[in-house]
Parts: sequence; structure tokens; C-alpha cells
Amino acid sequence: MLSPCHAQVSPSICNSAARLAAWSDTLIGNINGIQASADGRIEHFGSLLIGDDGRVKQVMANRNPRLSRFDHMINGEGRTMLPGLIDAHGHVTDFGFAALHLNLVGTSSLDDLKQRLRTYAAAHPDARWVIGFGWNQELWPEKRFPTSADLDAVVPDRPVVLERVDGHGLVANGAAMKAAGVTADTSSPPGGRIDNGFFVDAARGLIDKAVPPPTPAELDLALAKAQEILLGFGVTGVGSMSTSVVDWETFRRAGEVGRLNVRLMSYLLGADSMKAVPEPTPWLYGDRLRAVGIKLFADGALGSRGAWLKRPYADKPDTRGLQFHSDAEMLSLADTAAAHGFQIATHAIGDAANAQIISVYERLSKKYGRDRRWRIEHFQIVDPVDIPRLAPAGIIASMQPTHQTSDRLMAEKRLGPNRLAGAYAWQTVLKSGAKLAFGSDFPVESPNPFPGLSAAVSRQDLNGEPPGGWVPSERLTLGQALHAFTRGAAYAGFAEQKIGALEPGKWADFIIVDRDPTKVDAQSLARTLVLETWVAGKRVWSRAPSASRPERGK
Ligand SMILES: [Zn+2]
Repeated sequence: MLSPCHAQVSPSICNSAARLAAWSDTLIGNINGIQASADGRIEHFGSLLIGDDGRVKQVMANRNPRLSRFDHMINGEGRTMLPGLIDAHGHVTDFGFAALHLNLVGTSSLDDLKQRLRTYAAAHPDARWVIGFGWNQELWPEKRFPTSADLDAVVPDRPVVLERVDGHGLVANGAAMKAAGVTADTSSPPGGRIDNGFFVDAARGLIDKAVPPPTPAELDLALAKAQEILLGFGVTGVGSMSTSVVDWETFRRAGEVGRLNVRLMSYLLGADSMKAVPEPTPWLYGDRLRAVGIKLFADGALGSRGAWLKRPYADKPDTRGLQFHSDAEMLSLADTAAAHGFQIATHAIGDAANAQIISVYERLSKKYGRDRRWRIEHFQIVDPVDIPRLAPAGIIASMQPTHQTSDRLMAEKRLGPNRLAGAYAWQTVLKSGAKLAFGSDFPVESPNPFPGLSAAVSRQDLNGEPPGGWVPSERLTLGQALHAFTRGAAYAGFAEQKIGALEPGKWADFIIVDRDPTKVDAQSLARTLVLETWVAGKRVWSRAPSASRPERGK
């Protein structure tokens, strides 16, 4: 842990601190401070002065500055400090529940899924429904979607619902289908598909509505769990996507009793949310929570072939994916939310969905102005001709670097080799003059931002695959990548005056990490461990000593 004054700090600083005890500022000296500048370069600093209001007062190059007045001195022991990282796109309560429910992330085969289901069901005999999340058939040798019969073979007597890793589909067992009143004859609703107990996009609603809703106590537990894990990964701010009204109430409950440590910029799910939250809120609870926008969807996901493409899927030529709304509907939904003052964040994965929402935003930008910061979530598969349309309309690309490393092989199959020029095209987005915000889409991917930073600078996965990086011209510099995970993500949530950088007047949200990201290779960067996480000048998380492997100051 960062040690207090009397440890190993220079005596002159300690003495002056003692003499001026009436002041309550805190100086953290002797740090290897690193952050992204406004133009995406790496900036270094050596010490940080924090006011008793939890905001930054001064950022200094000198590691041991002489100051006339401050109260506490903390010796950083030369360790590396970064601003708190901001995930522009995550699902907070879903993530908390995923951590509490059956975890199927990384299952290596259908048998592995069955084994984990068997173990979890035996360990949770009281669970009325067995809920699981995170399987991905692309990682399995059989590569087929699981069926209700697969699950019935393991748990026949109570409902089981297992969500696919992208959240766009789920498989239900017979008991769950029975509870939902779904039979083999039930037809798919528009925008959805049913396939032997696998419910995709709009069809999953048939099952979802039968799952008993979580209680407030369960929701509080999920939020607490999510915050604990996020802080441990150095995430101090989140663009909280698809916030339901129930989620919003959970965030408010936590804020009321001082249990929000992660700052949440909330995007409420769908235009219907405006019945409960009719307009954006001011920042609440010391800038911990704000309803800032409405989340809309233009299409589904690529893995389940729900992404809406301009031309048919290369590996399934009879479909172009799922178009969720006509152009007129999409415009009307976004316009209605914008008229209420909300920012709009629209999920668009396929090139057709991206082109549609760009056209909508171009019109709304003329009506409401560029600084409404129109957001496209994911912006994964984009026709290169559409990328230059972002900047003039003030459209922000909110992207997730680890989607590139996870989806690369699947994307090549879905699209074929010649339609990937605008895919995961971070550098092209920046060069076009558009703003970029990074996140993870947790729980789809881990909320750990360091594999994201690593993917951003290398276009390689944790094992260094593929050699040289996938489409390496789209690599970012570390400064650009850090910018997208701090200042860019703050800007995307209208929070750049408050967070995203350690600068006078902004919150002292920062982390201490075990290595210097400017001095390690991409694989080591991905394995960076957070040692401490501070929010508003207070330490809110620290790694248990046994688990820490700090690199001491040099
Ligand atoms: Zn998402």
C-alpha cells in the first residue's frame, strides 16, 4: 500500500507537513505518474496534490516538490499511477449476476457446459431457476448451438436458462419452456429465431418473461459484487449500458447509502424507460451517478448472425441478419429520446445497421447540433465509405478492443476475407477525425481494461496471436489507447470536466499498478495487476498483500 509520511519520504517534506497540520490537502509524492494528454500522447507526472474535497489541486512533474502547505504526505515509492480507467460500455448488474450465477465463460465443449451445469445445480438445490451465462459454441469442437434436449439430459426437473456469451441468445430446457408456455409449435416473433430450444434476439423475450425477477436484495448484492470486481481491475467509471428502470432504482439505493464507488453514466434501456425517467438527471451522490442517455438497438450480434449486413453472410448466404427497425422507426425512436434531452447510444454491429444509424444521426445532428455526442455502440463491421461520415455529425465510435481479438476468426468466417476493411478499424476512426471511446462490453468480455489496452496497441490476443497483429495498420499507440479508456470514455458520457484525467478540478480517481505500461510489451501490458484503486481521493480497493507482486520504485 502507499505508505504514510513517516515511512521513507524526504524529511523536508514530512516536516513541513507536520508544521502545517491545519491544512487538509494530501500530497502523493514519488510516483511514476502516467496519463494520456488531450491529444493522445503519453504524459508523465511525479506527484499529485489532492484537496480534502477529493479533487485534484495540482499535478507536478517533480517527484518531491516543495510546497508551502499540505496536510498529509503519502510516499508513492516510485510506483506507477494511472488515472482511474473508464469503461465506456458495460452492463453492471448483468455482470454482478453473471458473477453470482453459473459461469459458462470459456467452456471448451458441450460436455464441459453439461458438467458445469451438473455441478452448479447440485451446489444450488434451492435455486428455483438455474441461470447461467457465457457459453460460446465457437470455442467448442462441435461448434453447434446447445439444445433443450442437451440441458434436459442434465437437469430435467427445474427450469434452466443459459445465455450465450453475446447476450443475444439463450438456450432453455424443457421445464423453462413449459414455464414460459412455449412449445415446439411456437413460432418465432419478428426479429427473432427459435432453434431446438435456442432463442435468438427477439425470441428470447418469450423465455425471459417467465424467469422470476430478482429481488431488491439480490440486485443490491449483484451491484456490490460488480463494483468490487470493477475496482479490482482499476475501473472507476462505467458507461452503464441498457440500464433498466429496476437497475436505475438499484443504483439510486446504493447512492443514497453511500455505496456507489464506481461512477455510473447510465444509458436507460429503450424509449419506454422515459416513462420512469423522463429526462436526464443531474449528477448525483458526489458525481457517482447520472442518467445521461437512452440505449437503442439497430441490430443483433455477429456470432448469432443477428448483425444486419449490407450483403449476405459469407457462411450463410440466405441471410443478411436482423434489421430491428425501419429507417423511419429508428429515426422516430432516437428523435423522441433526443427531444427529451437524452444522449442517444445505439447498438450497431453490422455494416447495414451502422449505415442506418449514421443516417439517422446525420439528420438529428442538423436538428439538435453536433455536441449531442451521438454514440454508436460497437461499430464493429463498417463499410469504409461510412467512416468519414462520423466526425461531421459529431458521432462517437464506442468500441471494445477485446471484441476484435475474440471475434477475429468468427468475423472472417461470417464475412469472408474481402469485407473486413472497416472492421474494428480504430486507427481509421481516429484518422477520420471522429472521437473514440473504449470499453469491454462486460460481461460479454472481462471488464479488465488491460487486455483491452494490449489488444488496442497490438491487435494480438493474450498469447500474441496472430504474429504481427490482425490488420496491424489499425493498431493504436499506447497514448491513443489510454486516451480512449480515460478521456475518450469520459467525453462519450459528458463527464470530461470531472473524470478521465488527473487535472486540477477533476476528481482524484486513480489506480496504482504493478508495472509501467510504457516499458513493457503487449503481452505483459495485458497482465498488469492493479494494486490499489482510489476514488475521490480515498482508497476504495487494495489487493490482498499475498497476491500482490509490486515492482518497487527504482
Ligand atoms: Zn453491450
